[in-house]
Amino acid sequence: MSDVLLEVRDLRVHFPTADGVVKAVDGVSFTVERGHTLGVVGESGSGKSITFLTVMGLINRKSAIVSGEVLFEGRNLLEATNDELRHIRGDRIGMIFQDPMTSMHPMYRVGDQIAEAILAHRSVSKGDARARAVEALRLVGIPAPEQRARQYPHEFSGGMRQRAMIAMALVLDPDLLIADEPTTALDVTVQAQILEVIDELKQRLNIGVALISHSLATVADVSQDVMVMYAGRPIEQGTRDQVFTAPLHPYALGLLSSVPRVDRRVERLVPIEGSPPSLIHVPSGCAFHPRCPYRFAPCDTERPDLRDRGGGHADACHLSVDQKAANRRERLDMQEPVA
Ligand code: SF4
Repeated sequence: MSDVLLEVRDLRVHFPTADGVVKAVDGVSFTVERGHTLGVVGESGSGKSITFLTVMGLINRKSAIVSGEVLFEGRNLLEATNDELRHIRGDRIGMIFQDPMTSMHPMYRVGDQIAEAILAHRSVSKGDARARAVEALRLVGIPAPEQRARQYPHEFSGGMRQRAMIAMALVLDPDLLIADEPTTALDVTVQAQILEVIDELKQRLNIGVALISHSLATVADVSQDVMVMYAGRPIEQGTRDQVFTAPLHPYALGLLSSVPRVDRRVERLVPIEGSPPSLIHVPSGCAFHPRCPYRFAPCDTERPDLRDRGGGHADACHLSVDQKAANRRERLDMQEPVA
């Protein structure tokens, strides 16, 4: 049964500047369900982080024109007051960012910082808040949490600091966790551990997770649903299996062909040529056309709509489904499956 926690409908976030309007988010719709992780993938400037900063009410509305709907448990957060948003953040929606060092105050003990988050939202004693902070550190797998709670952030490794941030984000039992590039600043060896912690807590606490990453590979193992963004818009959406085994859009296919995969023997990786477009001067037609190896006549003049090609697997590309399948065979056949 569907249990939608967050539903975003046709979200647009435009920033008027002296050089023109930056269309950072330009028509984004998606849902996050309880017990599911939505992996949101795109290069820098694709609009993925701005989308979720807007969901959290962290965009300065004086400098941005925002439209659409952000329905969280049925309530449109775009109409919420600052006080309501402050209550929802942390209490109902937790968020973790890329760099845990800059998200924690270096002068305060880790346990005290988590306890402060509790005291800001709950009427409990300082002693209770500290005890709950220790329990939260235990929940995310930090050994000897009583001692660790008395330490300062610089006494934690990068991976432990990110675990502490996850503890802080989840200590108030939110329903939704937004994780924006949570592993990017970490050593490769601890990245998988942090993703495992998030995945395990998602299942144990039955929360919804939005996992934002520039890398499809990062979201592959822990997402049930995937949205790929380009130039402020979703260009492919579907289940993890749909997007990973049968990508439709040339950009998603390019992302999969340009990185090594553990399930494929790769003779040659194919990089995506060029760089992401300016969000002030977004290319006409399909925004990806200047970089697309498959572009043809209508691509530079007609913008393709996001269309469901069956089973909820949608993409925004003029190519026929047969042509996309042929492209996929050609690209992914170069990556022979590992026996
Ligand atoms: Fe490439 Fe055209 Fe499809 Fe855009 S619409 S991704 S340019 S083939």
